[in-house]
Amino acid sequence: MTAVTDPEFAGLKALVTGGGAGIGAATIRALQARGAATAALDLDPSGAPEGALQFQVDVTDTAAVKAAVDQAAEQLGGLDIVINNAGIGAQGQADANDDAEWARVLDVNVTSVARVTTAALPHLRASNSAAVVNTASIASMLGLPERVLYSASKGAVQAMTLAMAADWVAEGIRVNAVVPGTANTPWIGRLLEKADDPAAERAALNARQPHGRLVEPEEVAEAHCYLASPRNRSTTGVLLPIDGGMTSLRTRS
Ligand code: NAD
Repeated sequence: MTAVTDPEFAGLKALVTGGGAGIGAATIRALQARGAATAALDLDPSGAPEGALQFQVDVTDTAAVKAAVDQAAEQLGGLDIVINNAGIGAQGQADANDDAEWARVLDVNVTSVARVTTAALPHLRASNSAAVVNTASIASMLGLPERVLYSASKGAVQAMTLAMAADWVAEGIRVNAVVPGTANTPWIGRLLEKADDPAAERAALNARQPHGRLVEPEEVAEAHCYLASPRNRSTTGVLLPIDGGMTSLRTRS
């Protein structure tokens, strides 16, 4: 066991996909503050926190992912933690997206989780603090309007988190997922920009949250750290909502 007086992630190496912005960048900062060495894999990693290795990679490109993961492990001196966080949105009802868009979104949001973890697996197997944390969404737990494809992708992330956890529990590789509510990241900024009345749209999103505001990326980062922490070796197969109570509470307005 790690002594509780040590920095929580001292000596551990973490790879974060989508680490160039939003929740992924916040997670890198939180891991670094706890002593981890970090690497960001992103289409545009330039926004990753200082001190993180940067790899410009599309998580749908198997060869590029494998090369970057191996290079990260070589430069960091191993790999203990993988945060599968890169993701994209999709809007509309079941008839809104064509087959090509379904394939694209599922590739980025779902297949990449298997792809990145597969590339990291030999390194995780060599670690005695191996942890994978995936980023799902409340859209995987609730029926939200106009989100069929995105919800399907995050439902798959949730299901594969449990299946991966079962496969590797005996090997000591833990697999968990955070389930964020609507979070205050560049992603939501882009959605609001497209709205007819961005202020009204933001107010509506805030009002949808029982705690009356969007989730901050730093709050999701805390959950990523909790689930990845070597102090929590009995935590596997957990889907942890960070959503201000949206999936579990029915409050009176
Ligand atoms: P963001 O758009 O602010 O950041 C996502 C990062 O992923 C970006 O840096 C982007 O370049 C990178 N990325 C996207 N596609 C990629 C690809 N093909 N290859 C490599 N990198 C790629 O988004 P965010 O809000 O920080 O979201 C992070 C994760 O959290 C996503 O999986 C998202 O589905 C999930 N999530 C977000 C919210 C929210 O409200 N923001 C809520 C629930 C879940």
